[in-house]
Amino acid sequence: MYFEKCSQCGFQFDADSPFDRKAHRVRCRAVEKARKKFGLVMTSDEREQAKKEAWPTVEDSSVDLYDRVKAAKTILRAWYSSDLAACNWDLKFDKFQKWARAFLHREGWQVFPSEVWRQLTKTYPPPRLIKKRVG
Ligand SMILES: [Zn+2]
Repeated sequence: MYFEKCSQCGFQFDADSPFDRKAHRVRCRAVEKARKKFGLVMTSDEREQAKKEAWPTVEDSSVDLYDRVKAAKTILRAWYSSDLAACNWDLKFDKFQKWARAFLHREGWQVFPSEVWRQLTKTYPPPRLIKKRVG
């Protein structure tokens, strides 16, 4: 057994096992295609690292708001990557902008400090509400 971790897709696998190598190839290709379509897609290690670095900036009110918002966008990207991974990098997945708008405006859910959140909603306004016809 020889364990290897791919730096491109973050998959850890037994490089001596043909089964593992094949599983890795399938996954690596899916991640690569997703990157081409969706832009930055983080591996799980990258997601954890990004969140660890970005959260203190987001929450520190002494930091310039521009940088706090930028850090919040990094966290959004990490969550997006995680949702995308959960769907096996389905190419029919929403693009980041659309996903972020829906994600940020879930009812009763505001995870970022309000001044950061206000800035984010300018970039990612609520999805247009579909008016239901009554009667
Ligand atoms: Zn890989």
